[in-house]
Amino acid sequence: MEFINEAFIHSLMNDSSLRNGSLQLDIIGKAKEAKGLSLKDSAALLNVTSRDILEELFNAAKEVKEKIFGKRLVVFAPLYITNSCVNNCLYCTFRRDNKDLKRKSLTLEEIEEETCLMVQQGQKRLLLVAGEHPKNAALEFIGKAVEKIYSVKVNEGNIRRVDLNSAPMSVSNFKTLKNFGIGTYHCFQETYDYNTYSLMHPDGPKSDYAWRLYAMDRALQAGIEDVGIGSLFGLTDYRFEALGLLSHALNLDERYGLGPHTISVPRILPALNAQPEFNSPHAVDDAAFKKLVAVLRLAVPYTGILLSTRENAEFRRELLNVGVSQIGTGSRTSLYTGQISAEGDQRSLDEVVMDLLKLGFLPSFCTACCRSERTGDRFMELAKAGSIGRLCLSNSVSSLKEYLLDYASEKTKLAGEDLLNARLGAENSGFLSEVIKMLERVTDGERDVYV
Ligand code: SF4
Ligand code: SF4
Repeated sequence: MEFINEAFIHSLMNDSSLRNGSLQLDIIGKAKEAKGLSLKDSAALLNVTSRDILEELFNAAKEVKEKIFGKRLVVFAPLYITNSCVNNCLYCTFRRDNKDLKRKSLTLEEIEEETCLMVQQGQKRLLLVAGEHPKNAALEFIGKAVEKIYSVKVNEGNIRRVDLNSAPMSVSNFKTLKNFGIGTYHCFQETYDYNTYSLMHPDGPKSDYAWRLYAMDRALQAGIEDVGIGSLFGLTDYRFEALGLLSHALNLDERYGLGPHTISVPRILPALNAQPEFNSPHAVDDAAFKKLVAVLRLAVPYTGILLSTRENAEFRRELLNVGVSQIGTGSRTSLYTGQISAEGDQRSLDEVVMDLLKLGFLPSFCTACCRSERTGDRFMELAKAGSIGRLCLSNSVSSLKEYLLDYASEKTKLAGEDLLNARLGAENSGFLSEVIKMLERVTDGERDVYV
C-alpha cells in the first residue's frame, strides 16, 4: 500500500507554499497543455480559494476536456441487480445490518424486462451494479446477467456495452469475468484513508483495505484493460481523497503504462438507517466539489470523469463545464429500487439529451472503442496524444443521429438535427466527409455505424 503515502499527502495538504496565487496560476497555465499534473501541483490547485483563480481553473478544465474528448458527453444507464450485501459499510443503505430495507434481487427475467425498457428509451451503454453477495451477486450470476442483457433486441435496438461495478475478485475470477465481454470494470476504494476505511467497513470481506486497493492490479493482470476507480467524497477531507485517487491513478500508469479508464466521483448522501456513529463529518459542499472535479480533469486529462445521477440536474450542468465526460441517466427505470429517491437527477433520457443539446454538448451513445479493441494502452495512446477526439466526434454524431431517428421526442429530434447541422457546418477538418458518409448510412437505415 506504499503508493498511498498518507504522510506525504498530508504534508502536501498542509504545505503553505502551495497556497501561493501566482504559483497556482502557473500550474493552471501548464495544465492547459493537457499533459497531466504531479501530486504536488494537484495539491496546490486543491488549495485554491481566490474567486479569480477558481475561474481560471474552471476554464482550464473545460478547455482540457474539450481538447481531449471534444464536446461529446457519453451517456449510460445504471442497472442495479441486487441490494443484498454481506458487507456492513456504515454509510450505505444496503449494509447487511439494515433490517428495515426490503431486499430485492433481480431474476434473469426481470433483468431482461429492465433491459427492454432501457433499449426502448434508446440506451446503448449500461452499467451493471451489484453489492457483494455469494448468491445474488455471484460471478456465475453476473455472467448470466451480462449474457441476458446482450441478448435483448427490441427492433434494431440493443445494449452494445455492459460495464460492471462489483466487489473485487481474484485474478482467476477476473479472467472469467473478462470472457463475459464486459467493458470497464469499476470498483471504488470509497476512502483512501486507512483509519477511516477501517472505521467505515467494520466487517465482511470489504474490511480488507489492501484486497480492495489492489483489485485493479488483479483485473489488469487478468487482461481486463479498462478499469475505473473512485472515491465516495465526504468520508474524509476531499483534498485527501482527491490526492489518494490521483496517487492510485499515477501508480497504475507507472506500473502498467495505462492509467484508469475512468474516475467516478460519487458524493455521499444521507443513507436510510446509516449507523449513528457516522454523521458525515467531512461533507463536501458544491463549491469544493466543483473544484475537485476540475483538478482531477487537469491532473489526468486522458481519463473519463464519470458522474452518477446522485447530483441534481442544475449542479450536473455546472460540472459538465469543468471536465465531466460521462453521465448516468434514466434513474427512473429501476424496477428493483421500488421507491425512487427524491434526490439527484431523475429526468428521463430524452429530457437529459434535450438539455445537453441546448447546452451545446454532443450526447454520445458510442460504444466503439471496446468493440474495436481500442482498450488499455491502445486507447491511452490515442487519448494521451489528443487523437481520440476525432473518433469521438465521428462516433458521437453517428450514434446521436441514430438516437434522434429511432427514439427521440419530436422536440429533441429538432434540437438534435439543428445541433448536428451547426456542428458539421463549423467543422472544416479533413474527416468531415467521413462523418457525412456515416450520417448518410444511418439515415439510409443502417445501424451501429462507427469507426
Ligand atoms: Fe453498500 Fe457496497 Fe458496502 Fe454493500 S459493499 S454495504 S452495497 S457500499
Ligand atoms: Fe468513447 Fe471511444 Fe466512442 Fe470516444 S470513440 S465516445 S472514447 S467509445
